[in-house]
Amino acid sequence: MRDDEAAAGTLPYVEVTDEAYAAQAAAGFTVREFGFAVLLSGRCPRCDHTTTSTVVDELFRRETPAAAPDPGYRTVLCECEADHPSRPAGLRGCGAYWTLRLEVEA
Ligand SMILES: [Zn+2]
Ligand SMILES: [Zn+2]
Repeated sequence: MRDDEAAAGTLPYVEVTDEAYAAQAAAGFTVREFGFAVLLSGRCPRCDHTTTSTVVDELFRRETPAAAPDPGYRTVLCECEADHPSRPAGLRGCGAYWTLRLEVEA
């Protein structure tokens, strides 16, 4: 896994998270608000591809009703454009996800 397989493009799709992802993403992501939506863009902490996620408050709450104890936290998924082996059809990104603390005023 150290040579050619370590290249970012060959990372298989795995739904995985790590505490380091959140810290890395918090430092490197750009957060822009558009009314009810929040646009997050930066480099995925796992695959290092550019990823842009749109978080819409209502959608988010509907999808994860029990997993949002604090409205300031958002689960962000890697949505890079690159191909990752073993990825289920219809999905994007490498499977990495992390929690981002958003400074959004109620
Ligand atoms: Zn990727
Ligand atoms: Zn990724």
